[in-house]
Amino acid sequence: EDLSTDIVIIGAGGAGMSAAVEAATAGKKVIIVEKMPIVGGNTTRATGGMNAAETSIQAAAGITDTKETFYNDTMKGGKEKNDPALLQTMVDNAATAVDWINELGGDLKRVTLSGGATNPRIHTPVDGSAVGPVVVKVLSAKLEALKVEIMLNTEATKIITKDGAAVGIEAKDENGNPFKIEAKAVIIATGGFGANSEMVEGFRPDLVGFSTTNHKGATGDGIVMAQAVGADLTDIGEIQIHPTTDPGTGYMFTEGLRGDGAILINAEGKRFTDELLTRDVVSANILKQTDGIAYLITNEEMRAENASLAGYVKKGYAVEAATLADLAKELGMDADVLVKTMATYAEAVKSGKDAEFNRTHLTKSLEAGPYFALKVTPGIHHTMGGLKIDTTTHVIGTDGKAIAGLYAAGEVVGGVHGANRIGGNAVTDIIVFGKIAGKIAAEEMK
Ligand code: ADP
Repeated sequence: EDLSTDIVIIGAGGAGMSAAVEAATAGKKVIIVEKMPIVGGNTTRATGGMNAAETSIQAAAGITDTKETFYNDTMKGGKEKNDPALLQTMVDNAATAVDWINELGGDLKRVTLSGGATNPRIHTPVDGSAVGPVVVKVLSAKLEALKVEIMLNTEATKIITKDGAAVGIEAKDENGNPFKIEAKAVIIATGGFGANSEMVEGFRPDLVGFSTTNHKGATGDGIVMAQAVGADLTDIGEIQIHPTTDPGTGYMFTEGLRGDGAILINAEGKRFTDELLTRDVVSANILKQTDGIAYLITNEEMRAENASLAGYVKKGYAVEAATLADLAKELGMDADVLVKTMATYAEAVKSGKDAEFNRTHLTKSLEAGPYFALKVTPGIHHTMGGLKIDTTTHVIGTDGKAIAGLYAAGEVVGGVHGANRIGGNAVTDIIVFGKIAGKIAAEEMK
């Protein structure tokens, strides 16, 4: 059955739900369509926090930080490829966005230092939990209070246009039956395309065979649908790789583990790289090994000190063994080779010189068991590129003009992060631009 509404939003992740809250608060009738059986998308998987500068929380904690430093750090991390106006918009609205999530019941009141940031500015839940589920929970609760309709198991398939303006969508209901939703504005918030291997390989032929840390709905539908109505793309080949993910599930093992002392060995029991080279180089080196996999080797000494590692062990990702000989047996490799590799590495740590691979940060000799091995392969993590928008989230066409009635926000958009996304900026991006999309669409709809 065909429907009619003021604003239709495609995708119920952090961006789509933020847009819906703003549009509904402005008094508009909103329908969200979500193709998965649950809301949250990749947002649910966001583990870190939310970056913002000059926040009340930083001030209360006595942290000095400025929007200017936040901007400069992000630009540097993005290899100067970020769209300056979009980045400035994110930076200027980040503190308000953190307050907004907290007013909705979030608890992002702990600020710490994280990779790529000059000052402590990543806002995380006080109880130490991951940021994504908190954001999804508070936005879901607000949408329920606002009585916004979220149609689950409903996939948008096409943006309908009339005289060049977006006037609704075509969708498939839970039984696969097509129907239309007529609307005065359409907001695309479908997330990235990290789970669409064909699309990834199409834009980046060098990334064949990668698994992904993404949820399975991250298939780039919004990009395809918007392109069909004339939308332009930006930075589309900029894809972030995470070197150490579980080959089966794409579950991510933090990069901090290598910094804290873990080493990488291949299926033959040999080291093959300085473990602390950049993400892209370590990923490429893992892919050159047998079956494109490696093992992160850690021990009990590390587990006792490292909450992340303790969590992976608890969740069952690690192969455990009392001795190196046992570990070799468990992993099906030659025990003599593994013992020799580990002895050579221990010598390198003690002498402070890794003659084989020139690793300079040498902390743990890993001489004592029990041992833990995590099987890893590089995975697609974040797609920085996507639809081209302006600072008020209008989708820009290949003719350089905004497409009337069409807005986009979140990972589906390109330009904010340039060539590399800094940890903690994804959540900020989706909330800031989601809010703008909802507000502007509500103001401009006719
Ligand atoms: P963001 O971080 O940008 O909000 P997410 O990945 O968190 O992105 O959320 C995007 C949501 O959009 C996901 O829940 C995904 O299942 C949904 N989605 C993707 N494509 C479609 C589509 N064609 N129709 C409906 N929902 C979609």
